[in-house]
Amino acid sequence: MRALGFLGGTFNPVHIGHLRGALDCVDQLGLDQVALLPAAQPPLKDLPVISAQHRSAMLELAVQRTEDLTVDCRELDRPGLSFTIDTVRELRHQWQGDTSLTFIMGLDSLVNLHHWRDWQGLFELCNIAVLARPGAHAALDGAVRRSIDQRRCPASDLKHCAAGAVTFVNQTPLDVSSTAIRGALKGGKNVQFLLPEAVIEYIVAHELYDCLNTDRRGSD
Ligand code: ATP
Repeated sequence: MRALGFLGGTFNPVHIGHLRGALDCVDQLGLDQVALLPAAQPPLKDLPVISAQHRSAMLELAVQRTEDLTVDCRELDRPGLSFTIDTVRELRHQWQGDTSLTFIMGLDSLVNLHHWRDWQGLFELCNIAVLARPGAHAALDGAVRRSIDQRRCPASDLKHCAAGAVTFVNQTPLDVSSTAIRGALKGGKNVQFLLPEAVIEYIVAHELYDCLNTDRRGSD
């Protein structure tokens, strides 16, 4: 059975936590590929100030030399809020029951799953893989916890299920977030090794995140 993973997010900007998490899923779950799936308008977050075009361009740069990772921009082409259930319905329509589809999320996202539109419906359409995330605690909503307990399977079995299974992935612990990177860029700090070099070059070239809001701007 073909096994595909999808890591949804804002990627504002993409960083090594996303990229290592996606690769750890390829390795530990035996997925054929993981697509990074940028949201146009995440329902539970503020609208990103950085345009979808910039966020997807940074993603393309981030995966350009990693054949196990791709970028899927379908949510950017859809008007309105980016509900995951709509995306997963589309994916399931595209990849029929002979494909294992796994939606990947960090533990902090799982903690909010009960706020997602038709979150129970996700289990009919795809598996869920959860990435451990430093600082995130598993205080799960009762209904979510019960659902997960019923569906939990070993990481190595997930790719044999088309949908409905849940597993936890031991991600390389990386205490990095887009919020912290945006703050560091704004403060003129060095963000090398927190995100791919090509992405840093793109940010500087396009003057994103106030990254030139330091002495350098004054001396231009
Ligand atoms: P922000 O700081 O702007 O909220 P973020 O760093 O959490 O952003 P997102 O694009 O919102 O990044 O994350 C997409 C998905 O990747 C989410 O499910 C999130 O939990 C997961 N994720 C992000 N960073 C990490 C990390 N360092 N370790 C594990 N999972 C992560």
